[in-house]
Amino acid sequence: MSTTEDTASYSKPPKRPAVSVRNASVVYTTADSPVHALSNIDLDIADGEFVALIGPSGCGKTTLMRVVADLEKTSAGEVLVNGVTPHAARVARAYGYVFQAPALFPWRTVLANVTLPLQIQGMAQAQAKSVAREHLERVGLQGFEGKYPWQLSGGMQQRVSIARALSFEPKILMMDEPFGALDEITRDRLNEQLQQLWQRERRTVLFVTHSIAEAVYLSTKIVVMSPRPGRIVKVIDSPLPDARHLGLRDAPEFIALAHEVREALADGHHG
Ligand code: ADP
Ligand code: MG
Repeated sequence: MSTTEDTASYSKPPKRPAVSVRNASVVYTTADSPVHALSNIDLDIADGEFVALIGPSGCGKTTLMRVVADLEKTSAGEVLVNGVTPHAARVARAYGYVFQAPALFPWRTVLANVTLPLQIQGMAQAQAKSVAREHLERVGLQGFEGKYPWQLSGGMQQRVSIARALSFEPKILMMDEPFGALDEITRDRLNEQLQQLWQRERRTVLFVTHSIAEAVYLSTKIVVMSPRPGRIVKVIDSPLPDARHLGLRDAPEFIALAHEVREALADGHHG
């Protein structure tokens, strides 16, 4: 193996698709009229990409994520995850989830919240504890293992939930507005930590957000969606370097990209 493979000048072989969505639609049947939540979605996500889904409420971001995660069925089209069906990928434990509310058990310690799903999966207690400790450390929560969720700030609780999702070493991390309920300062810090985590591990991330700044700061690919019916109006491959710091938000290339996303959102809204 030559070391040139790691240099930017080396033309890399095409990456393996982590997610491929072809002409997918989702129609929810309701008591009155059917809801066309997603219409003719085409999307390719390469291994190791950080993909933001951005768009107004009700445009189908959560539905698209749930389709990829095998929590929702498509009405038409095809979805492949690591080359297999979403169901097969779920059985193979390809996914980790982080939702807007951390959903921790208040009567269990931080450590016990992370070990619980591992033990449910049949991992021995001692091993589950060591895996949980390792992942809590990776999100900067060493020293807090014995605390209860209510003793932590909202941002720390969300980090517990990220550690729990990562403890399975999922191929794909799904995050549905994970920082939406947090104040802006905490959110900035978590954005920075998540970006560093992604740089270290290069896991595929599917991230839902309403925030243009968050999408631009975190993503290698930004998928702009619009409602009624939910569709993709633009896919933007980020020209920003992979290594980022928050100061980048004042750089002209960051501002230009944020502008491009804003325009696409506006086009989707009016068109
Ligand atoms: P977003 O996450 O972008 O806010 P969703 O994917 O949650 O959007 O919803 C897309 C559309 O589908 C919305 O109009 C929503 O009301 C509708 N919807 C979502 N889930 C259901 C459901 N289980 N039954 C009926 N309609 C639904
Ligand atoms: Mg949603």
